Amino acid sequence: MRKKFLCSILMLQIIFLAGCSVENTEKETGGEKVSSAEESKSEDSPAVREIFAMDTYMTVTAYGEKAETAAEQAQERIQELDAELSTGEEDSEIYQLNKTGSAILSDDAAYLYERSMEINQETDGAFQPFIYPIMELWGFTSQNYQVPKKKVIKEKLLLMDISQVSYDQKTREIAFLKEDMKIDFGGIAKGYASDEVVRIFGENGVSSGMISLGGNVWAMGRKTDGSLWRVAIQNPEESEDYLGVLEIENKAVITSGGYERYFEQDGKRYHHIIDPSTGYPAENGLTSVTIISEDGTLADALSTSLYVMGLEKAVAWWRGHSSDFDVVLLTDQGQLYVTEGIASSFSSDFDVEIIEK
Ligand code: AMP
Ligand code: MG
Repeated sequence: MRKKFLCSILMLQIIFLAGCSVENTEKETGGEKVSSAEESKSEDSPAVREIFAMDTYMTVTAYGEKAETAAEQAQERIQELDAELSTGEEDSEIYQLNKTGSAILSDDAAYLYERSMEINQETDGAFQPFIYPIMELWGFTSQNYQVPKKKVIKEKLLLMDISQVSYDQKTREIAFLKEDMKIDFGGIAKGYASDEVVRIFGENGVSSGMISLGGNVWAMGRKTDGSLWRVAIQNPEESEDYLGVLEIENKAVITSGGYERYFEQDGKRYHHIIDPSTGYPAENGLTSVTIISEDGTLADALSTSLYVMGLEKAVAWWRGHSSDFDVVLLTDQGQLYVTEGIASSFSSDFDVEIIEK
């Protein structure tokens, strides 16, 4: 019989809304909430913050003398990024940019824009930050879900024309040259937020920490007993089961799956990862993609991109960039694949095929 998570309802919400999770998180953190600086003086007692931001439940856990300060700063930084990058909050930088079509980007937005465009080019458009009008059309931004008419999708696809953006890297001035173009960092922002938490932890001397932002995990250092972090990848077919467990240190583990956000109409499921070449939810044979990398921003963008690409293209893309990341893929036929770089760190009750360079 396959192992199951034994978690409290709260942990289930935090863990299983996510694409991947820290196995026995309660054990790792002692299930305790450290609420004051006093209590975090011991090396072994963690500072923990539970945050709802970027539409998801997040938990940051830090060990070390300055763990409380680190966790506090991490929470503030996550909230700052949420306030800047939200597509739905009227005060946010991105909301205003999408409304007016021009802006001078902040450091964070400029960084995400530049990386998004780089990854857009490298993935041949599979990663598409100008996807927002399509997200709106399907109702993913308002929860007024609908299957749009083909003709309307076609029209909206024209708004993803990156040649219609002027951007000056020096001044960070951006302008959308076509009316109604809108940007969305939903496929990359949580990975960046996790990298930012890692940076803050490092600045505060934290050498052991766990950052879990929805489907995005960043396992910093090792556990305080010296063992590796164990990160479980959710089974998309069964929310309380998992595909396997990764034993890792100093890596982001980021999952994209259609099961994370979707609606159903006439017995068909429509999910939130859009194939920019069609404007429809990507149906290219993959149901879960997990990227393992030291670069959380890259891992987040690639989990979305490789999901869109489908198995064959995703494998070819990994072969061209295998020094930057590893990947765990699940097909809609139930076949699990892992790339050779993490094969020995991954244990699973499923049959696993190893992808070689
Ligand atoms: P993730 O969960 O990281 O795969 O990101 C999914 C989110 O990214 C969606 O909710 C959209 O906000 C956005 N998105 C959807 N499709 C794409 C795409 N092809 N490229 C970039 N972002 C996307
Ligand atoms: Mg992503």
